[in-house]
Amino acid sequence: MSGICQVCGVEAPTQKVFFMQHIGAVIMFFHKRIGGEFCRNCVDKYFRQYGLTTLLAGWWGVISVFATPVVLIVDVANYFRAWNLPPVPADAKYRFRRTPSGVVVVQQPVYVSADLRPPGQDRLTP
Ligand SMILES: [Zn+2]
Repeated sequence: MSGICQVCGVEAPTQKVFFMQHIGAVIMFFHKRIGGEFCRNCVDKYFRQYGLTTLLAGWWGVISVFATPVVLIVDVANYFRAWNLPPVPADAKYRFRRTPSGVVVVQQPVYVSADLRPPGQDRLTP
């Protein structure tokens, strides 16, 4: 299915997935989730980033020791759901970009219908 990636804005085949990250901190834990229509690049990026963080930092807590395997299984299952997702084409266009602070910048030109002639000039010919 072709669409627009909700993370990076590329116009490419997408798949609805979500990934979780779990960090154990003895008696506390930090849980994060990201999801939506993702392109191949973003599926790989977030599976790697969230999975690796969970794998390394997930286990260190009372609840976390039980939560971490569940989170890892869910992440792997989501990764396999997107297994057949084709790569982003080399000439794919970006509909929007995110700045590092998360602000969305629209890449498509915006057409504004406006009459820019000074008042009183109704025609372009004298
Ligand atoms: Zn993407």
